[in-house]
Amino acid sequence: AKAEGRNAICFFDPAMQAVVTANAALTSELRQGLRNQDFVLHYQPQVGREGGMVGVEALVRWQHPQHGLVAPDSFITQAEDSGLILPLGQWVLETACTQLAAWAGRAETEKFSIAINVSVRQFRHPEFVEMVMKAVEQAGISAHHLKLELTESLLAKDMDVTIAKMGILKNAGVTLSIDDFGIGYSALSYLKYLPLDQLKIDRSFVKDVLTDPNDAAIARTIIGLAQSLGLGVMAEGVETEAQRDFLARHGCHCYQGYLFSKPLPIEELEVFIQRLPQT
Ligand code: C2E
Ligand code: CA
Ligand code: CA
Ligand code: CA
Repeated sequence: AKAEGRNAICFFDPAMQAVVTANAALTSELRQGLRNQDFVLHYQPQVGREGGMVGVEALVRWQHPQHGLVAPDSFITQAEDSGLILPLGQWVLETACTQLAAWAGRAETEKFSIAINVSVRQFRHPEFVEMVMKAVEQAGISAHHLKLELTESLLAKDMDVTIAKMGILKNAGVTLSIDDFGIGYSALSYLKYLPLDQLKIDRSFVKDVLTDPNDAAIARTIIGLAQSLGLGVMAEGVETEAQRDFLARHGCHCYQGYLFSKPLPIEELEVFIQRLPQT
């Protein structure tokens, strides 16, 4: 090692150093933010065939004391790399379950679900299943109302453990969805082994579904795949009626996107729900 050390070329890249420093600063700010409970959940409605709300997706935001409301894309990766995704994810889980408890019991929420995003690192925690069940129990809700959005990257390794964990969650009544389906690298053959309920079409395929024949083909293929496997399919990032109509024509009847609503703070979601046509 000593010889190696002597001969090794040492690069000092000031830009890299700046990145390392910035990451460390972000990590300590995130830790502080967790201590101060500076995170909030916004809820984006998910709409079904008849236009009624079938659920919401909980999306985390950071209410930063200096920068205002910060979008998750600017901190989730760092939270994952630093391990802070564990306490953050736990907070999201407990907060979403508590929120669900406040909605439960209303007639129109019987089939309603809250979807939460689960990072790979969180899912791989040896006690993940216990933590989910505990959050459900403590909130006093039925697990049937909880949906977990998992990503394909989960399937890169330890398939046996992953399948076993998913099985326990599924048996407990939790709904399992694969998020951003189609942008991962995994082979399709794994799908038949997983106790899944839903595939979620990534927004990147929905965006140009009317103008890009490749995106249209991918969207149609995902819908067809879901149908042949007996899974539900939800499209995200639906912004126009034309996109919605295309998806509906090809058999996708669950949507989420700005066409219906952007993610809303809880008070605004309550107003949104009250304004829905009564069924
Ligand atoms: P995602 O799970 O793919 O969530 C969908 C993203 O698309 C959300 O961005 C949402 O606000 C946005 N979106 C929804 N409808 C539309 C639309 O019609 N048009 C456009 N252009 N965008 C739309 P957001 O809230 O910024 O979240 C970004 C990502 O951060 C999420 O992507 C998810 O991967 C991650 N994330 C959010 N909350 C959590 C969380 O609690 N835990 C974890 N692990 N990740 C989270
Ligand atoms: Ca998601
Ligand atoms: Ca995602
Ligand atoms: Ca997505």
